[in-house]
Amino acid sequence: MTNKTARPAAAPQHDLLPLPDRRADRVTVLLPLPVPLPVGEGYDYRVPAGMDLREGDIVEVPLGKRHMVGVVWRLGGSGEVPEARLKDVVAKLDAPPLPEGLRRFVSWVASYTLAPPGAVLRMAMSVPAALEPPKPVVAYECAPDFDVEALRPTPARRRVLSFLANTPPLPAAEIARQAGVSAGVGKGLAEAGALRPVLLPPAPPPPLPDPDLKRADLAPDQAAAAAALAEAVGQGYRATLLDGVTGSGKTEVYFEAIAAALKAGEQVLVLLPEIALTPHWLERFEARFGCRPTEWHSELTQAQRRDNWRAVAEGKAGIVVGARSALFLSFPNLGLIVVDEEHESAFKQEEGVTYHARDMAVVRAYLAKIPIVLVSATPSLETMANVENGRYQRVSLPDRFAGAALPMIQAIDMRAHRPPQGRWLSPPLVEAVRGTLAAGEQALLFLNRRGYAPLTLCGACGHRLACPNCTAWLVEHRLAGRLQCHQCGHTEKLPDHCPACDSDEGFKAVGPGVERIAEEVMQLFPDARFALIASDTLGGPAAVAEMLRSVRDREVDILIGTQMVAKGHHFPMLTLVGVVDADLGLVGGDLRAAERTYQLLHQVAGRAGRAEHPGRVLLQTYDPGHKVIQALVEGDRDRFLEAEADDRRRAGMPPFGRLAALIISGADKNLVEAVALRLGRSAPRNLPGQTEVRVLGPAPAPFAVLRGRHRFRLLLQAPRGVNVQALLRHWLAQAQIPHAVRVTVDIDPYSFL
Ligand code: ADP
Ligand code: ZN
Ligand code: ZN
Repeated sequence: MTNKTARPAAAPQHDLLPLPDRRADRVTVLLPLPVPLPVGEGYDYRVPAGMDLREGDIVEVPLGKRHMVGVVWRLGGSGEVPEARLKDVVAKLDAPPLPEGLRRFVSWVASYTLAPPGAVLRMAMSVPAALEPPKPVVAYECAPDFDVEALRPTPARRRVLSFLANTPPLPAAEIARQAGVSAGVGKGLAEAGALRPVLLPPAPPPPLPDPDLKRADLAPDQAAAAAALAEAVGQGYRATLLDGVTGSGKTEVYFEAIAAALKAGEQVLVLLPEIALTPHWLERFEARFGCRPTEWHSELTQAQRRDNWRAVAEGKAGIVVGARSALFLSFPNLGLIVVDEEHESAFKQEEGVTYHARDMAVVRAYLAKIPIVLVSATPSLETMANVENGRYQRVSLPDRFAGAALPMIQAIDMRAHRPPQGRWLSPPLVEAVRGTLAAGEQALLFLNRRGYAPLTLCGACGHRLACPNCTAWLVEHRLAGRLQCHQCGHTEKLPDHCPACDSDEGFKAVGPGVERIAEEVMQLFPDARFALIASDTLGGPAAVAEMLRSVRDREVDILIGTQMVAKGHHFPMLTLVGVVDADLGLVGGDLRAAERTYQLLHQVAGRAGRAEHPGRVLLQTYDPGHKVIQALVEGDRDRFLEAEADDRRRAGMPPFGRLAALIISGADKNLVEAVALRLGRSAPRNLPGQTEVRVLGPAPAPFAVLRGRHRFRLLLQAPRGVNVQALLRHWLAQAQIPHAVRVTVDIDPYSFL
């Protein structure tokens, strides 16, 4: 493989930053602490003689009795701290400085989400070890001329020695993992002199993707789309929606934009919802570019996080693919952002700093003056509104690649086709599965609910088993033999006796989960081979990969799964998709319930008939006239989006109005409620001139008790032009919040739990 591309230059703007007129003798340093700041953004420090600091430098400073690592946010300091109280910067770290684009982004996100800037900075400095220069790695090899037999080695020690005899030196943790022994075994052998340490160089730089390796032969409309995206590279900020049906080749097309950025020597960030970060995607990437991208997600080890963070910050990682937190990596030379599956609500971070990674990615691109591509077959209403108003450009791929037909979607009216008592699959669906199996093809039964049954009640008194910490029923997981709360994760064994009436008559399962569908499939099709795919039935990515392989290799006839199967998998022989409960996502009255259900079902439907075999989708529903079901059956996405947009516009809801939620929570219900009521009374609707702003609540949040905390919610609704952040700041600044109560702000809330 030849490669003419230059590695992206390391931290170029570091050298391009103008030198300050005179050496700064004071600096403001922002520390990665989630505390609201009393003055400005950070604390002032004196720069000791001989130290030359620039904005973005990573420094160690004293804070109280400790030392902490922070970032030089401003030269000159705020000037608000008297000279006598200033402390010295302790040291400048040998780490790549935080680039200006990322610093501006941190400040922007903090002010938008109302999070303390230090809490946002902490996401950009999430791997403290990466701020130290990389150290050589200590590895072990067998000591030559050592008389092993004199040691009378245990079987475990023998395993390590014979394993190491045939491999290059490895770090202790790797030896333990690969030889399948505990860490103490290697340590003991090293102390006895049977192993000796050798120093390996620090992690090698990631391999270079080759933009020219294996270009797809693009169809004309694909080529036009790819050209439009590639032309934007290097031309400053531009947001583009890549809008195309599943299987139209969107991935192939945005790979060409990535290639263009690589050729320009720039770094690329691809954001995927965690769940879509599949081995399949990585394999496709590798086939196209010759190596794996640099990954960033929750499955990485601590050492991988350190190496990858540093490789990005030194400009050595050309392409990064990651979940939402990858937005906060320290790219010195970012040239393009791609957000795949932009409509996914998984991009909303709900804990800590609450932010929407797709929206923040657009801001990141804007601040860095680079193009961003949002990719979806079912774009969010937010993105569509931005296309309509001209903020985003749209590039469309209307057809499936190679003429593959879109699946035919039909509704099964469950009022007319009731399943027998205690069953969930209607006669027409059962018939369709039978036909599919007879044709030697595969079927998928989709139900977005883990476990056996969503509700379990006492056979004698009807008592419902509920979570002790939450307002939620316990879900039976029969395979694991446990009850589980899907809100907080609490698990317990199914009790022998009813906790209410003490009867031992046993419990009844009410309603289906995927495990119960699997049971029904076993009874209906005893000869079929089936597989169950849900996040709790598969332990980790390797198991998922193995499962997907077995489906692709046709070792499975019927696939039963939750939304885990909906994402991006490609099964050529899967021709039937049965949606067990198409109405499931529509209950609950969530603002985005219809939109989300449409997106999910559309995506599931897209699993059917991706190759030469045409697909068929059956939706079991009790409400076949619902706009979501109608839109799916008629294949009219845009009409659905328009109708949905009209409803939202009329109600002044996002994306045409703004929402912010305040969640008031605490252990003491009376106190929490009192604070919520007080906040409600002082809400900004009472301000003169703010008549268009409405505050709803306080209401007990739908899960009024969550993880043992009582929760109340206030919802602020305002027209788009209103500066919601300013309103909230003003409102909260006046409020007296006792220590035992927590108020969290959620701008643009997606979850109404
Ligand atoms: P999408 O992301 O829109 O769902 P993909 O990029 O995954 O579509 O493409 C669907 C399938 O078609 C994939 O297997 C892909 O490799 C194949 N494909 C798409 N475009 C081409 C092309 N120009 N040449 C060869 N295969 C293609
Ligand atoms: Zn009972
Ligand atoms: Zn719970």
